[in-house]
Amino acid sequence: MLSAERIMQRCDALARHSELPGGLTRVFLSRENRAANELVLGWMREAGMQASVDAIGNVVGRYEGQQQPCLMLGSHLDTVRDAGRYDGMLGVVSAIECVAALHERRKRLPFAIEVVGFGDEEGVRFATTMLGSRAIAGALDPAVLKTTDAAGVSIEEALRAFGLDPAGMRDVARKKGSVAAYAELHIEQGPVLEAEGLPVGVVTAINGFSRLRVTLQGEAGHAGTVPMNLRRDALAAAAECVLAIERIARADVDLVGTVGRIEARPGAINVIPGEVQFTIDFRAPRDELRMQAVGSARAEVEAIAEKRHVGCRIEMLQELGVAACAPWLMSQLARAVAAEGFPVRKLPSGAGHDGMALKNIADIAMLFVRCKGGISHNPAESITEADAAVGARTLLRFIENFELPA
Ligand SMILES: [Zn+2]
Repeated sequence: MLSAERIMQRCDALARHSELPGGLTRVFLSRENRAANELVLGWMREAGMQASVDAIGNVVGRYEGQQQPCLMLGSHLDTVRDAGRYDGMLGVVSAIECVAALHERRKRLPFAIEVVGFGDEEGVRFATTMLGSRAIAGALDPAVLKTTDAAGVSIEEALRAFGLDPAGMRDVARKKGSVAAYAELHIEQGPVLEAEGLPVGVVTAINGFSRLRVTLQGEAGHAGTVPMNLRRDALAAAAECVLAIERIARADVDLVGTVGRIEARPGAINVIPGEVQFTIDFRAPRDELRMQAVGSARAEVEAIAEKRHVGCRIEMLQELGVAACAPWLMSQLARAVAAEGFPVRKLPSGAGHDGMALKNIADIAMLFVRCKGGISHNPAESITEADAAVGARTLLRFIENFELPA
């Protein structure tokens, strides 16, 4: 029997493995990551799965079926800084709960089920996202493993320190055809379901994103002696850029744009900022709209830099196109929602998810679960046990009725 109480308890148990006292921060390949993996491995084995950690640090459990290929379920086990306890974890724990329910009935399905707890989705430690799902999708460039964290430790070194062998990465990648579909349950992280009084919704597509880094090079100088008309203040230039990006993003309701990080050097009260770096994050449900925004932002930043006589370098850090959910999977999820007695609400995902990477090898689908106030990436993130129950029941119904398209 599905137990929503156990789902909630397990999310609580995972939240205790945190580097942040009194809050939740758990980054990729950390001590806390290891402890969370151990918990999840135990739950998977208890649910009748063969479970292990793969070479990129994903926890993978497999519940054999009568034949290949597998239906892959899952979500991520890493968190942002000062996170909520459901973003990612709810999907892993709910999927395990579904398999446990099958195992209890000694029920095997025509296909195998794999549950994956992805090691890195948020990209907090190495500023590069979805390492776990990209590796499984065979879409991880080995050069990425040289990326370092703030302490100068590369992903490769961190994997070794975690007891993993980066050379095993080749075996992590799945062949096309070995995964029949990927389905993820995740909290909505937005306010739509709550506003409409619905516990679950079926995702239509995951919005694409572009992430850029801008470096403005001015000239540092004495804050007391350099007259205003002779300054090349990189931070004042950046301020204009931030407002320009906000204006660009506001021009279309479907577009969002954020400058989430900014750093001024040398960073002293009495020194004119000589160099500034900031990030830009654009997201949209249509690739051409996002591309246009990136183009406008580049042009505006360059124009501002030129006007203010500061140097300017714009780098694209990461870009992913819109990941549409497969109609055949959406309709099977929709049937499961309707069978639970709820209207089928279809909605796009403004947040990125592992499905964007897995799309490389399989069709994808997502089931959203309502969260309080649409709040996420925040310790106030909250769901009800009743909604966790609806989510798990819907997912189990979807699994038990899962059929490949004719
Ligand atoms: Zn997430």
